[in-house]
Amino acid sequence: MGSARERPSLWRWSMFAVTYQSAVWGGLSAVVACVVLMFSQLQSLQVMGPTLFLLAAMVALGELRPVVFSSTYEADGVPMSSAFVFTALYLWGVVPALVLQAFAVLISEVLQHKAAWKLFFNIGQYALSVSAAWLVLVAAGVSTDMSDGRSTFSASDLGWVVVSWFAYHFVNLTLVSGLAKYYGQSWWESFTDDLWYYTFSTVAVLALVPFIVVMAATSWQFIPLLLLPLFGVYKLAAVSKSREREALHDALTQLPNRTLFSQSMAETLEIAARDDSTVAVFLLDLDRFKEVNDTLGHPAGDQLLEVVARRVLSAVRPDDVVARLGGDEFAVLLPDVRDAGHAIEVAERIRRILAEPFRLEGVLVDVDVSIGIAVSPQDGTEVESLMRRADVAMYVAKGEQTGIEVYDIARDPNSPQRLGTVTALREALDRGQLELHYQPKVDLADGAVVGAEALVRWRHPDRGLIAPDDFVPLAERTGLVHRLTKYVLESALDQVAQWWASGLHVPVAINVSMRDLQEADLAFLVTRALDRHGLPPEALVLEVTESVLVMDPGQAVATLRDLAEVGVSSSLDDFGTGYSSLVLLEQLPVSEVKIDRSFVRRLDEVGGDPAMVRSIIGFAHGLGLTVVAEGVETASAWKMLRDMGCDVAQGFRVARPMPPGEASQWFMERVVRHADHAAGTARSELAGEGPFVPGMSPPVVPVTG
Ligand code: C2E
Ligand code: MG
Ligand code: MG
Repeated sequence: MGSARERPSLWRWSMFAVTYQSAVWGGLSAVVACVVLMFSQLQSLQVMGPTLFLLAAMVALGELRPVVFSSTYEADGVPMSSAFVFTALYLWGVVPALVLQAFAVLISEVLQHKAAWKLFFNIGQYALSVSAAWLVLVAAGVSTDMSDGRSTFSASDLGWVVVSWFAYHFVNLTLVSGLAKYYGQSWWESFTDDLWYYTFSTVAVLALVPFIVVMAATSWQFIPLLLLPLFGVYKLAAVSKSREREALHDALTQLPNRTLFSQSMAETLEIAARDDSTVAVFLLDLDRFKEVNDTLGHPAGDQLLEVVARRVLSAVRPDDVVARLGGDEFAVLLPDVRDAGHAIEVAERIRRILAEPFRLEGVLVDVDVSIGIAVSPQDGTEVESLMRRADVAMYVAKGEQTGIEVYDIARDPNSPQRLGTVTALREALDRGQLELHYQPKVDLADGAVVGAEALVRWRHPDRGLIAPDDFVPLAERTGLVHRLTKYVLESALDQVAQWWASGLHVPVAINVSMRDLQEADLAFLVTRALDRHGLPPEALVLEVTESVLVMDPGQAVATLRDLAEVGVSSSLDDFGTGYSSLVLLEQLPVSEVKIDRSFVRRLDEVGGDPAMVRSIIGFAHGLGLTVVAEGVETASAWKMLRDMGCDVAQGFRVARPMPPGEASQWFMERVVRHADHAAGTARSELAGEGPFVPGMSPPVVPVTG
């Protein structure tokens, strides 16, 4: 049990005090009486002779190494010494048994440096337990005493012998449980805690006693022979313990594995519920582990995991549990944190320590880690739910590249609120509650409309118009995005077909997600849809965000190639935010990049540095790509972009995304104005400082075809 050294603060009249006082006074006085009795009868000492001393020696040995069958019960084993104490009991009765037992406790407590109050208690506790066994024997009439010299141990006594073991075991447990309050448990909890384990171990050790008794009764010379089978028992216990250790630990890092981590978590949560304390669970995932494995080989990967394990251990307290759940996934359990903020501090410490480069095979390697945090009780009080929520947080941290995230129900695709939204979104698709708004893309040089982007909105019966950022990511996570994309494709093409039929030959772009690109049949789907609407491939553009390509370039590039082959061009959206490599961009079958609006916005900031935008433009032109600036809101941004040679602008400066009717009118007006105005008059207006009212100013709409 625990190893607190201070005197417990429970000395009031309580179960604790009663148990303690009776064990100490009852047990200790019995021991003292027995010592006096034994040493006052010197002739009995002679009768017991070398057998007694050999048993005492075995008791000492037994205390040096208790038998521990299971690594889960680190603190307590069952001492082998009880087998010899019982041998003495069956041979010569209670007096030498109690003396040997007291001797055993003395050795054990001294070895474990226990506090004096525990020493007295333990001597008394064991004395009472052995006395209980003896009383059973007395009641059954199979008891002996020192003067008998030799026990007559017959097969018919066996039943009572076994009963005496149980008497010993249960008195022992009862007394220990009487102190349960000291360890923060109830009496019953303590009594039933690991009851089977302790009962089994006790019986396993005591089952040896009849053999020892028979041997010792024959001749004391047999006793040393016991060392061999005893050694066997130790070995067995050691093997079983190490097997169990293996089953509960990760072989590479020696950290607890998922099973043990869940066990520790369950125990911790139970204690936390009782103490009202806060528990935090982290899930850690290395961000570039696969790369290390692929480029430097598996031994380097293993080495990396070992170092990561050591570093994480060094960043937490000794009571915290660090486990490897498999692959490059680790978990940390903080049994007692102040609040989520404190947990974040620890997570930051872990991230800092893992940010130091690793030296593997002589190469310095950087790995990043994403940490998801769930905190009990607010995020759940069960192992399952907490682990799942830490996992959700970890995915958010990974996806948004924020490093650390605390679980947030609003971002959990499986939270009840969200599930409501998923179902609602599915219904919205069925009922056609999604609609597309169209935002024009215009030529920066002459204001000519060169296309439009279709942006989806959800017209929710109660919540009004919902922006795509609030439901598209959800659709992406749940696989609903395929249906969403098909829906968008169909309704965009319906609209485009109408425009083309009325002479408005603008290509329309739709946004597709990573999941769509992972489907090999996207190109087929798109061509079929174009055919059905009687439209040429030039009528459609697909926008893909850059981050998609970084995550899974292989399949995405293949799909984009297929699309390019059938004549549908693609555009790289939100460019500059996804860290795609230049090499990747060069291989990409796209014809356009869209500079992310965050860069465009910075053009307007005081002291804003246009260098980034300028270099993106230069670089994309170098690859023969058209450059579109997103989020153009001001005349000054417009002018700067035009001067830097950017090709196309999209943004509120030109027009907000408009519902189909309004968008059609906007485009039509430009066709009408175009007929009235000489080409070129629009230019100055777009670049001017005056308000730019959508649908009122007259950029030129070239009608091609
Ligand atoms: P995006 O593809 O980058 O779309 C441009 C976003 O910028 C739109 O937001 C648009 O309203 C906004 N925007 C345009 N001009 C300006 C401006 O001058 N200033 C500012 N501040 N913003 C401007 P929206 O419509 O909320 O769409 C957000 C994102 O949702 C889109 O970003 C796109 O990634 C995604 N999305 C929209 N429709 C779809 C869709 O049908 N399918 C998929 N998979 N994603 C979609
Ligand atoms: Mg887009
Ligand atoms: Mg964009």
